[in-house]
Amino acid sequence: SQIGDLDDSAAGRSVLIRGAAQAIRPVSKKMAFVVLRQSMSTVQCVLVASADAGVSTQMVRFATAFSKESIVDVEGVVSLPKEPLKATTQQVEIQVRKIYCINRAIPTLPINLEDAARSEADFEKAELAGEKLVRVGQDTRLNYRAIDLRTPSNQAVFRIQCQVENKFREFLLSKDFVGIHTPKLISGSSEGGAAVFKLLYNGQPACLAQSPQLYKQMAICGGFERVFEVGPVFRAENSNTHRHLCEFVGLDAEMEIKEHYFEYLDKTLKLPYEEGVQMLKEAGTEIEPMGDLNTEAEKKLGRLVREKYNTDFFILYRYPLAVRPFYTMPCYDNPAYTNSFDVFIRGEEIISGAQRIHTPELLAKRATECGIDVSTISAYIESFSYGAPPHGGFGVGLERVVMLFCALNNIRKTSMFPRDPQRLVP
Ligand code: ATP
Ligand code: MG
Ligand code: MG
Ligand code: MG
Repeated sequence: SQIGDLDDSAAGRSVLIRGAAQAIRPVSKKMAFVVLRQSMSTVQCVLVASADAGVSTQMVRFATAFSKESIVDVEGVVSLPKEPLKATTQQVEIQVRKIYCINRAIPTLPINLEDAARSEADFEKAELAGEKLVRVGQDTRLNYRAIDLRTPSNQAVFRIQCQVENKFREFLLSKDFVGIHTPKLISGSSEGGAAVFKLLYNGQPACLAQSPQLYKQMAICGGFERVFEVGPVFRAENSNTHRHLCEFVGLDAEMEIKEHYFEYLDKTLKLPYEEGVQMLKEAGTEIEPMGDLNTEAEKKLGRLVREKYNTDFFILYRYPLAVRPFYTMPCYDNPAYTNSFDVFIRGEEIISGAQRIHTPELLAKRATECGIDVSTISAYIESFSYGAPPHGGFGVGLERVVMLFCALNNIRKTSMFPRDPQRLVP
């Protein structure tokens, strides 16, 4: 049986349940409680030595010797508790008839799950009561991720992540986008800049893809009017920040432009970049008008937008040419700016997107101006000579967006096995 399905209506039914022994509480020689857990649900199992039920005192002793987190099978009968149980468990109990240990956990785990599961509110309460609780550090959690992932909040985070990915796919599929997969071993850097992992590919210099950018555009050149990809993205980020990983999941889309670009976002606040710079200036932050916003400036703009427009979600558009990737389309009316945008949640970037250059001459010129060796991306540039439609697209970081949706303070919390400049294990 699934623990999460057990409710009043199951009373009297015989069940067989496999779960992890989250807590084991001996009461006397004749009685003990074992709390079994399956992902987010727990149920209290009651062992009472009685000849009628076929439960011996040895069996009770045997069960109380299980180490926490061991995998246990219980055969028993569902009963209704005399008094209400903790709100976090199912509101039924299992009267145990038989209990088996399927696989033991070591007696002392490197992380105590109860400590790992505590919330900030628990710590505040304990401090008021003068109690001292163990705080499990981020690195310890990540070192022993197979235990840390069992906390209810981690179980929730990765379910939310799965749903976000799923919604992205569902929405784009409903708009006739085709899901594609592009190579991650590529010959030249796709985004330029230093943040690229280099390697040898059969003796030839190669890179890990910093985005599916070049290939999703080539798919558009290949006659797929609308494409999307969910796949790994590699960036050799050279510092540890709360929002950058060295490997993350990119949610990318690219489409021919035949209609208004903001078709699906028309209720969202849209601010021109110049207005953002002006707001920052008025609030005392000087920004190089043709330069990029650093993380601090972005966060400050997020606060200013919140005060002025009462929203945490907004789009900044028309970025200066100098701060966008080489393939970004300059504005027709002023080529110092681009037809580009970023989307922010609480002043943190979750999406970058733009119209792309679709003529090979301008594309080669911009690549050269950005210091990219055109010979490493010649096949990409040539694709635009064979009949290439106007197009644009965007990329979202899955871990980044889930971090901000859930108001978490570190992207390592939304990556199951994060890769950062220091971490390659587990
Ligand atoms: P940032 O300004 O935060 O460094 P970026 O502008 O370099 O991001 P883009 O190249 O625009 O990033 O990538 C598209 C999206 O991918 C970003 O909006 C963000 O959601 C996500 N992203 C970018 N870099 C990382 C990273 N190192 N780790 C996790 N997600 C990232
Ligand atoms: Mg970056
Ligand atoms: Mg950025
Ligand atoms: Mg960006």
